[in-house]
Amino acid sequence: MQQELKIQNSLSRQKEVFKPIHEGRVGMYVCGPTVYSDVHLGNCRTFVSFDVIYRYLTYLGYKVRYVRNITDVGHLEGDTDIGGEDKISKKARLEQLEPMEVVQRYTVGFHDVMQVLNALPPSIEPRATQHIIEQIDMVQSILDNGYGYVENGSVYFDTNKFVKETDYYGKLSGRKVEDLMTETRDDLKNQSEKRHPSDFAIWIKASPEHIMRWQSPWSVGFPGWHLECSAMSTKYLGQTFDIHGGGNDLKFPHHENEVAQNIGSCGHAPANYWLHTNMLLMNGKKMSKSDGNSITPEELFTGNNPNVSKGYSPMVLRFFMLQSHYGSTLDLTDVALLAAEKGYKRIMEANQTLQGLQHSGNGSASELDQRIQGQIAQVHIEMNDDFNTPKALAVLFDLATTINRLQGGQDKLSDVQPETLAQLQQVFQDFLFDVFGLKDETATGGGQGNADLMNGLMDIIIEVRKGAKETKDWPTADLIRNKLGEMGVQLKDGPEGTSWTRDI
Ligand SMILES: [Zn+2]
Repeated sequence: MQQELKIQNSLSRQKEVFKPIHEGRVGMYVCGPTVYSDVHLGNCRTFVSFDVIYRYLTYLGYKVRYVRNITDVGHLEGDTDIGGEDKISKKARLEQLEPMEVVQRYTVGFHDVMQVLNALPPSIEPRATQHIIEQIDMVQSILDNGYGYVENGSVYFDTNKFVKETDYYGKLSGRKVEDLMTETRDDLKNQSEKRHPSDFAIWIKASPEHIMRWQSPWSVGFPGWHLECSAMSTKYLGQTFDIHGGGNDLKFPHHENEVAQNIGSCGHAPANYWLHTNMLLMNGKKMSKSDGNSITPEELFTGNNPNVSKGYSPMVLRFFMLQSHYGSTLDLTDVALLAAEKGYKRIMEANQTLQGLQHSGNGSASELDQRIQGQIAQVHIEMNDDFNTPKALAVLFDLATTINRLQGGQDKLSDVQPETLAQLQQVFQDFLFDVFGLKDETATGGGQGNADLMNGLMDIIIEVRKGAKETKDWPTADLIRNKLGEMGVQLKDGPEGTSWTRDI
């Protein structure tokens, strides 16, 4: 079943065979949210995309170290590199809060949304304010290597020198160096302090009213936004690691400057593969609060927004996101969400039917059997082709038709080998739940799914208690009986074994 995994690498603009630096292990860094407001739905798409990538790499057997940071300092208003107010400081000032209260509130909110979307937590979630020392060290190395200069307490990256001595600047974003070095950009302020207009700040001297500030060799100030990702990815994944990801709006200047900083400080480019997710549109346009074309995750779940006719569950939203490739734009509309809701229900019901199919034990290697085996392989082929979730889902939908025909008797289980049915059952379980990270919401609410789950869980609990009794571990056996009793579940030990009843 093993084929090569191919990844669209933003750095080479090509699909490349994925080869990790260390066999069997993957280091992946994804730029996390700036926690000064509720998480944007577009960011949710990015993080769900990387969650699926993380899950699929794990499914393939890689030991993945997934680092996703929390930006809690240094990200300035208007994405400027100096001169704008720090987004978190500004929110703290407006709401009369401590900056860390702002950070705490929106970090918790972000985690809540990630949890309802069933996105796994990363292996490490470092915060910029907890890595000031590492950032100061990196600024110092950049200065030591001659790629930075100090001006009035702030430290700037010397892009002119970097361009002259390396051929890296502009490579990731595909921008021409000549344009980068001549154009004036809104995100670059304080031009008078810089030697060259495209130089960017890596340490910023704090103005007197700036709340978040740290002592450094150059001034009391704070690190530049681009710097934190360079410092934290290096700390946790090494000077060069496998995958660096983020939304494609971060490609320039954020990621381009990260590459410059890493090479400027240690002589190595940070990542071998750069992955960028595309934009989430709404009704064919960029989301924008000012013209009403926007929706928050919460509004989408409750339906409390004029752009949707009803609320959609988090799993329907996740399923909707899976229906497009992470590298394509995705257009969120009410019609598309309604269709996703139907598709999600259909695939979950097909899975329930599939898991209930019982094979009599005799089956032939018929044409049908071969087709199912081919489709099982195809699901993997699609995912190995740059994590193509929509195509993998399309194959599962084809299989759903076959499953319904097997259930309805139009196709015969005797034309399917028992091993093929077992494989099919496994593939649906693995992909729907482990790789795509969906949960079966159609089975909740007291239906048959819940009863089956309850019976299954009780079988496990009774088995564990039996084991405890056999080894004369009476405290464990009694604990199980007493705790179940508190929940209204009574165990009865008899000659036939243990049975259970539930208080009404
Ligand atoms: Zn970043």
